[in-house]
Amino acid sequence: MGRIKYKKKKPTGERDLHLELWSKKKKHYCQNCDKDLGDDPNPAYFSHIIPKSKEPKLRLDPDNFKIICFSCHQIYEFGTLDQIREFNLTDEQKKYLKQNNYLRYYKIYGDD
Ligand SMILES: [Zn+2]
Repeated sequence: MGRIKYKKKKPTGERDLHLELWSKKKKHYCQNCDKDLGDDPNPAYFSHIIPKSKEPKLRLDPDNFKIICFSCHQIYEFGTLDQIREFNLTDEQKKYLKQNNYLRYYKIYGDD
């Protein structure tokens, strides 16, 4: 008897990390606009501070995530430089950008 083999999707670990980050707080609000994100850890709420396309090695770094609403995620990914400059990043996140030399891509959070 033949068995049907299902191809397993290779786990990237990213979803597990989302859930771990989500479980750290009881209540989540968009870091940028304060919108209540409810109880569902929607994958669209998890945004890389430094995009994985720029730095694939930081894809699973827990410090490389911010939790934001869907609209703000769109702005962070596709917005203009002015919009991103207005984005509400914490000092730690700005430091993270600096440490990982990312400011040279964006040049938006200061000159140094
Ligand atoms: Zn938002």
